[in-house]
Amino acid sequence: MRRVERIVWHTAAHGRDGQAFDTTAAQIDQWHRERGWKEIGYNVVIRFDGTIEPGRDPEKIPAAVRGLNETTYHLCFSGHGDIAPLTPQQLESGVRHTIEMLQRYGLVERFLAEPEALIVMGHREVNELVRRGLAPIPTTKSCPGRLVNMDMVRKLIRAHLVSPRRPLSG
Ligand SMILES: [Zn+2]
Repeated sequence: MRRVERIVWHTAAHGRDGQAFDTTAAQIDQWHRERGWKEIGYNVVIRFDGTIEPGRDPEKIPAAVRGLNETTYHLCFSGHGDIAPLTPQQLESGVRHTIEMLQRYGLVERFLAEPEALIVMGHREVNELVRRGLAPIPTTKSCPGRLVNMDMVRKLIRAHLVSPRRPLSG
């Protein structure tokens, strides 16, 4: 299994005139091929209704954050995180999938023990890793979007890991 150290959240940044679109993995695959990549760079795409569509095989190196791809796993949410927040279904599905990946890659203990370590992070938080000397290349993107609060996301994940039967919403 590939060694993964961080789970990274993205937005498709797909919207216009104040409206966010329910982007498919097939659309993103097409965009990324148009950029000259072999295929979609993300590992999964999470649609407005919470459905998870597969992207790049997680055993292959993704293409999503320059300088950090080899040791990361990437979720991309349909829509545009600067225009609209994630739907409740996207948030719930994203939290569940992130927990599954923390478990798959043996990251639960570190996630819980080191809240500042950005084991789960938004793309834009690569700038914090750069500041700490842990990533080489900063980004100008707001990804996964100004309306996606990664501290809140990490709190939800933590709460669910600590008491798994607690409902994710509310
Ligand atoms: Zn991104």
